[in-house]
Amino acid sequence: MVTPPPKAPIPSGGRIHLIVACTLVFLLLLGGRSAYLQVVQGPSLRENVLRQQVSGKVILLPRRGTIFDRNGNILAQTTDSYRVDIRPGDIPAEKRAEVARALATCLSIPLEDLLQKLETLVSPFPLDRQISVNTGEEIQALALPGVDVYPSAKRVYPLGSQASHVLGFVHPELSSINVEEYIGGEGLEFACEDLLHGKAGQATYLVGPTGERLPLDPVEFISPQDGNNLVLTLDSTIQSVTEGELKIGVETNSATTGCAIVLDSRTGEVLALASYPAYNPLDASTRTPSHLFNVATQFLYEPGSVFKFVTGAAALEEGVTTLDTEWTDDGTIYIDDWPVFCPAEFGAPHGVQKLAELFQNSCNVGFAQIGLKLGATTFWQYANAFGFGRLSALELPQAAGRLDPADLWPEIGLATASFGYSMMLVTPLQIAAAFQIVANDGRYVPLHLIKEIRDPSGKTLQTLSPQATRQVISQKTAIQLRQALRGVVESKLSDTLRRYGVAGKTGTAKSNTEYNNTTFVGAFPADNPRVVILVNINQPQVDLGYAVRVCYPVFEKIVSKLVDILRVEPPQ
Ligand SMILES: [Zn+2]
Repeated sequence: MVTPPPKAPIPSGGRIHLIVACTLVFLLLLGGRSAYLQVVQGPSLRENVLRQQVSGKVILLPRRGTIFDRNGNILAQTTDSYRVDIRPGDIPAEKRAEVARALATCLSIPLEDLLQKLETLVSPFPLDRQISVNTGEEIQALALPGVDVYPSAKRVYPLGSQASHVLGFVHPELSSINVEEYIGGEGLEFACEDLLHGKAGQATYLVGPTGERLPLDPVEFISPQDGNNLVLTLDSTIQSVTEGELKIGVETNSATTGCAIVLDSRTGEVLALASYPAYNPLDASTRTPSHLFNVATQFLYEPGSVFKFVTGAAALEEGVTTLDTEWTDDGTIYIDDWPVFCPAEFGAPHGVQKLAELFQNSCNVGFAQIGLKLGATTFWQYANAFGFGRLSALELPQAAGRLDPADLWPEIGLATASFGYSMMLVTPLQIAAAFQIVANDGRYVPLHLIKEIRDPSGKTLQTLSPQATRQVISQKTAIQLRQALRGVVESKLSDTLRRYGVAGKTGTAKSNTEYNNTTFVGAFPADNPRVVILVNINQPQVDLGYAVRVCYPVFEKIVSKLVDILRVEPPQ
């Protein structure tokens, strides 16, 4: 898009985009020759000469889009800043100490380090890419030799490390137009690079005989197109509560990692998504691989007993069981000569149980029998329809997990898969997404984090509200399943929460270490769910490390606060 040249052709600070890459050195050489041709060879070459004179090109970088939460709070924003580059070779030796002192004072950096750099380095280098406008102007005013100060842009995250795994960060990179630009490194900054980045523009100026830019309007001006703004489904208040409670949960259990996800059970909107440990997007030293790892979307594990709700859903829908069907656990059963049993710490075999009791007792023997009756092909079809083994629609880097083809499942594989071991690897996000289907009366709605895309002026370009695309289980099955899942934490509920009811399932999965990976996923309120909350905490080292003791308390604290934040009315 070509727009009329602006009134002020030479930008100076303020809301002007980053300016770089003058080709003036090249023109210095051309300029002299152009003057010669113009005078000596006459008007026949005029057009050609003009073209040569005109190549004083300046790249105008776009401003990266802002990211808002659902209530208009700014989560990520680009602000004006300055950049300081050093050309050590152009600083006279006798001036080095003076230049170093001035910069060290302005930038609050160690004088000795800087002085050493000025004495040893030869090639130009960036000293600081993102300093404040005030500091930039202060340094500019000093007119230090060999020091270039440019208007630049800074990405800021006003809420610090909040939602770091959702937002990600940006880092400087040489872009396709051969200019250093800020590019998304993780999270939405990475996944939505094309939406957020915008498009560079260009101004072309006339240059004089010695290559200097003439003080005239540019002969060609292509405006940069700023990036689009994103409005997320995230609620920063709920995100803050979720992160805070997750952190307490992981740290009090001396666990290694964890995550917590809050979904709107009707719309599939992600209200909060937290992974532990988090990082500060602006502090590269906190961005280690283990901090960048998004536990919610990338941690793959055998989920264990929490997966039993999938088995229960398939069995109810297929008529393999009703709420009243009786299943018997008389102790260890053998399948393909492998023993299947309920861990001894639960006491004697569970005996005769209905579905609700199977969930409450988390009875492996009972679910193995249900799984065998469903058959591998049918069970696989439900696991697949619930979203296991494939990527979710969520706009974040994530793992697809694994769901082995049904024809590879031996009998014992089918039996153990029915209580969440073997044949699969899942992410916490997939468990939450599958439970959202149960909470949403069997309808699958794509999970999403982006609510709206707006142009740089704030005009809405697109509203994203994905609709249900498939019925995974019937409404009747979903209601029955939630009913059966109410007993799992019934005895743990506070008086307030008991009025609402919680339908949920625990999972304490043996990992390859001596510790467990624990999960709790629940819908709240049980009968007419507003939210689905998943809490996953890995390798807790205290209190036997059972999900009901490790994850449920985190769930309870988050949901108790949501009652007020979302103004959830108790059932009549
Ligand atoms: Zn049992």
